[in-house]
Amino acid sequence: MTETRNRSRKVTRKAGPPAETTDTASNEAASPVFQAPTADASASGGNGQGGNSKTAANNDNNENSGQNDKKSGNGNRRSNRSRGSRGGRNNNGGGNNNNGSNGQNGKGGGNNRGNRNNGNNRGRRNVPKSMQGADLTKRLPEPPKQAKDSLRIYALGGISEIGRNMTVFEYDGKLLIIDCGVLFPSSGEPGVDLILPDFGPIENKIDKVEALVVTHAHEDHIGAIPWLLKLRPDIPIVASRFTIALIAAKCKEHRQRPKFIEVNEKSDVKYGPFRCRFWAVNHSVPDALGIMLNTPAGSVVHTGDIKLDQTPLDNRPTDLPALSRYGDEGVDLMLCDSTNANIPGVSASEGDIPATFKRLVAGAKQRVIIASFASNVYRVQAAIDAAVAAGRKVAFNGRSMIRNMEIAEKMGFLKVPRGTIVSIDDASKMAPHKVVLITTGTQGEPMAALSRMARREHRQITVRDGDLIVFSSSLIPGNEEAVFGVMNMLSQIGAEVITNKEAKVHSSGHGYGGELLFLYNAARPKNAMPVHGEWRHLRANKELAISTGVDRDRVVLAQNGVVVDLAKGRANVVGQIQVGNLYVDGVSMGNVDADTLTDRTNLGAGGVVSITCVIDNRTARLLEHPTVATTGFSEDDRNVVPEIAELVENTMNDLAAEGENDTYRMVQKLRRKVGKLMSSKYKREPVILPTIVPTSGDGSYIDDDEVRASRESL
Ligand SMILES: [Zn+2]
Ligand SMILES: [Zn+2]
Repeated sequence: MTETRNRSRKVTRKAGPPAETTDTASNEAASPVFQAPTADASASGGNGQGGNSKTAANNDNNENSGQNDKKSGNGNRRSNRSRGSRGGRNNNGGGNNNNGSNGQNGKGGGNNRGNRNNGNNRGRRNVPKSMQGADLTKRLPEPPKQAKDSLRIYALGGISEIGRNMTVFEYDGKLLIIDCGVLFPSSGEPGVDLILPDFGPIENKIDKVEALVVTHAHEDHIGAIPWLLKLRPDIPIVASRFTIALIAAKCKEHRQRPKFIEVNEKSDVKYGPFRCRFWAVNHSVPDALGIMLNTPAGSVVHTGDIKLDQTPLDNRPTDLPALSRYGDEGVDLMLCDSTNANIPGVSASEGDIPATFKRLVAGAKQRVIIASFASNVYRVQAAIDAAVAAGRKVAFNGRSMIRNMEIAEKMGFLKVPRGTIVSIDDASKMAPHKVVLITTGTQGEPMAALSRMARREHRQITVRDGDLIVFSSSLIPGNEEAVFGVMNMLSQIGAEVITNKEAKVHSSGHGYGGELLFLYNAARPKNAMPVHGEWRHLRANKELAISTGVDRDRVVLAQNGVVVDLAKGRANVVGQIQVGNLYVDGVSMGNVDADTLTDRTNLGAGGVVSITCVIDNRTARLLEHPTVATTGFSEDDRNVVPEIAELVENTMNDLAAEGENDTYRMVQKLRRKVGKLMSSKYKREPVILPTIVPTSGDGSYIDDDEVRASRESL
C-alpha cells in the first residue's frame, strides 16, 4: 500500500476561533467544532488526501531515501562506542545502575533502566514485537494497551514537520503535555490558515492531563494553547516568566484566563507521576527552558528549541553543566531539537550581530529599516542599541512586534533608554536620518508593512533612494519568491538591501550538528528520539546521536502519531495512532484550501472541489454567497461550479433553518451533498473540501502577524 501514515486521518478537521473560556455559554455553543471526524469520513470519498500536504510531501521526498540505510543499520551495524558499553562514563551505565539519584523520584523508576538486557526477554510475552525502524511510509498498526510500568510518548505535531510542536507523555493513565504550537503553511497565501496539532487522540482523556509544560514562547510552541484550553480551560500551564507573559497576552486576546504555574531553571515540581525539573536553554527568544522529566518508567530529557551560543547577549547560555548533572543521574531518553542537525559545525553567535548593526546604522545616511522576527528580543535589543549609538529614535512596526516588545521591556528583557521609542506616526514626520524602524514582514508577507513600503502603499513611510533595509532573518523555505520580490522592489526604488549574505545580520536560534553533539555527550541518553524537524533533519539528528554512542537501534525515528513506549530502559516504537491536521480558518477569505491543494501531490483522479462559506457565528446563516473553486477539472466541466454553488447555498440555508450550529456537521453535510451530485451527475469522485468560516465581525480572530510569527523560530 502506498498510503502514508499522514493521510490516514480521512478528514481534515476545521476549527473555528476558540471560545472564551470564561463564558461557559459561548463555550458550549462552539465546542462541537472539535467533535472527532471519524464516523463520516468515508462518505466524502478520499478527501482525506487533501489534508496533509506538507507532511505527506516530506515523507515522499525524504523518508524513502533513508529507508535502506536504516534497515541495514539495525541488523548488523552497531556502534562500538555504544552507550551501554561505556558504563565508566556514566554513573548509571553498564546496565546495573540503581542510581541513588533516582531514588529522588520516589517511585524507583530507575530500576527498570538497569535491567534492560534481561528486561527484553522478560517483557517479550506481553510487549509486542518492536517496530523499531519500521517503514513509516506505511501505516503501523494500532499500539497495544500500554503496559503498566511504561511511559508512552507520542507527538501530535512537530515531528516530520517544523511547527505545531506538541508531545504527549502518558503514565498510568495520566498525561503530561510538552508544548502546544501552531504550524503556518509556508506558501504565501494572504488568507489566515493555522494548522493545529490534532487534539483528537487526547480529547477523551483531557481530564487526565496533569499539566502542559511549555519550553519557550515561540508560536510553534504556544500558538495552539487557546484551542487546547477550549477543550479544558483549567489545564495548568507550566512555563517560565517570559513564556507565561506571551501566552497570557495571546490568551487574553481570546478572552481566556489560563491557570499558570511559573517555573525557572531551578524549579522542581511534580504533577501526578511526572516530576519536572528544568535547565536554562539558549534560543532566539528569552527565558527558554529544557526539561528533565522523571517518571517511574524512566527519565526523559527534552531540549526544547536549543542553541549552544557561547556568547549570548543575555549571558544566559545553555546550561550544559546542569544537563550533564542530569546525565549523571541517568537519562533514559532524550528528545532533541533537529532543526539544524543537518548543518555541520557551529552556528553563528547572537553576540556577533550588534557590532554589524552598529556599523550599518552608523554608516547610514538616511532612514534605516530593520526587519526581524517579532519575538527576537535579542535582535531588537541590538537594533535599539545601534540606533541609540547613532543618535536615532526607534519606531516599532507590526502588531506582534509592538506587543512583544512592550512585554519584554516591562519584564526587563529589553532595555530601552527613556525617550528612545517613538510612534510610527512620529517617525514618519522625523528626518529620515533620525530614526530606525524595526518591523515585521521578513517573509515577504504581502500585507506586512515592509511589503507595503516596497510597493509604496504604506500610509506613513515612503522608502527612498538611499534608505537602508536590513533583513535580519532567515529565509523560510517556500517564501523565496515573495521575499525576493520585496527585496527587488526595494532595490528598484534605490534602497540598499542587506541580508545575511552581505553582512552578519542574522544567526539561527537552533544549534547546528556540532552543537547537538555536546548535548548528547552531556546527557548521555540511552535512547534518543529526534524531534522538531522534517525527515531529513530527524535523520541527521539520528546519526549525531549514534556518533556519540547511542545504540543505533535505540534511536527512535518517530513522526506525528507514532507511539513510543519507554519501558525497562528501552524506547520502542509500538504502533501508531491516527493524527491529522486541525485547521483554523480565520477571517481572511483567500481560497485557502484550493491554494494549498495545488501543492499537494496526491489529488487523485477526481480533482478537487473547494467550498468556502462565511457564516454568522450566532445564527449560522450565510453572510455571503459561497465561494466554489475547482482544480483538476477540464474546461467542459467548468459549468459545474455554479451548480455546486447553488447546491451549497441551499444546503446551508436548510441547515441554518434547522438551527444547526456545528461547523463540523455542516462540513460533513456539504461533503455528502456535493459528493452525491458529483458522482450521480458527473461520475466523478473529487476531493471535496468545504470550509466554514464563522465570523462575528468583532475582530476576535487570529491576527495575521501572530500567524506569521508561527514559523519564526527557524
Ligand atoms: Zn520551535
Ligand atoms: Zn523556538
